[in-house]
Amino acid sequence: DLPDQTVNITASMGICVYPEDGSNASELLKNADAAMFHAKGLGRNTCQFYTEELTRKAFEVLLLENDLRQAIEHNELELYYQPQVDLRTGKVVGAEALIRWNHKVLGTVSPARFIPIAEESGLIIEIGDWVLEEGCRQLHKWYTEGSIELSHLALNVAAMQLSRGGLVARLAELLSKYEFQAGRLELEVTEGFVMEKTERSINQLVAIQELGVTLAIDDFGTGYSSLSYLKDLPMDKLKIDQSFIRGVPHDSDDLAITKTILALGQGLGLRVIAEGVETQEQASFLLEAGCEYAQGYLFSKPLPADEFEAYVQRNRQS
Ligand code: C2E
Ligand code: MG
Ligand code: MG
Repeated sequence: DLPDQTVNITASMGICVYPEDGSNASELLKNADAAMFHAKGLGRNTCQFYTEELTRKAFEVLLLENDLRQAIEHNELELYYQPQVDLRTGKVVGAEALIRWNHKVLGTVSPARFIPIAEESGLIIEIGDWVLEEGCRQLHKWYTEGSIELSHLALNVAAMQLSRGGLVARLAELLSKYEFQAGRLELEVTEGFVMEKTERSINQLVAIQELGVTLAIDDFGTGYSSLSYLKDLPMDKLKIDQSFIRGVPHDSDDLAITKTILALGQGLGLRVIAEGVETQEQASFLLEAGCEYAQGYLFSKPLPADEFEAYVQRNRQS
């Protein structure tokens, strides 16, 4: 009890057992510490026993983080492009750029594995900036060469890039450097971020939209956005998360959620795109239900720039 208020404290505890988990005090403390961080990671206010798995995992993360620091310098990052298709015509209208890390020993490392490490370590700022530059450079190249025409290219943006500030100025700089219409650039932010909205981040989103860049909410439906949040946000597009599309049209819950998101988008005047469309059955259902755009393995996996270019050219002719 403090003079004006009561403060509640909980404990996160890591437990080590001698002699299994260490033969001396410093080793035991180090491992107990690792177990405590694991307990914190599980939401705090709990205790966890040390396991060797924890050391192995921590070591792996450390190694990846070290290599990731040099990935940009060593030219190991690459953007792949996945087509986004107009369901009514089957034509490619845009693309989403997805990052790949070609690690010299491990081969291709999935972003699902290294983006969280990049976010945790702050490296996401540098990596995210590389993605912006590379995406704009590629879009400019396609445009000036006249090889393919895309109505937009979507880039994923991490929450930290928005909360740091500086993104708006950077975008303005890239738009003037690469000279394409701002509307050809789309940024995807995750619904999780949208929920945390701080005033500063919202102001950034507004400023981004004022530049003419469009905004999409990624993985929509997974982050429990309250509808009032959605109303206040500067947004142009919703991306229905692939976890719902997977069950369409047979799982009645997924079906209900998908239809609801489509209705919500229509009601709020937002465009809607379905992610993770793998079967013709899903595509037909979505079209029937009023969904205009889709992205997924049914059309194509994410492809390296040159293969994507060839894909779009074939698609245009067909
Ligand atoms: P996301 O932005 O929601 O991207 C969609 C993910 O679904 C991609 O995984 C894509 O390859 C995969 N996918 C596409 N179509 C299908 C399909 O039909 N079936 C299935 N099962 N999967 C499909 P990927 O490329 O592994 O990326 C995973 C996540 O990593 C992305 O999810 C995004 O959150 C993050 N990410 C990727 N690139 C970047 C980036 O440049 N910056 C940031 N901050 N995050 C990125
Ligand atoms: Mg995305
Ligand atoms: Mg997504």
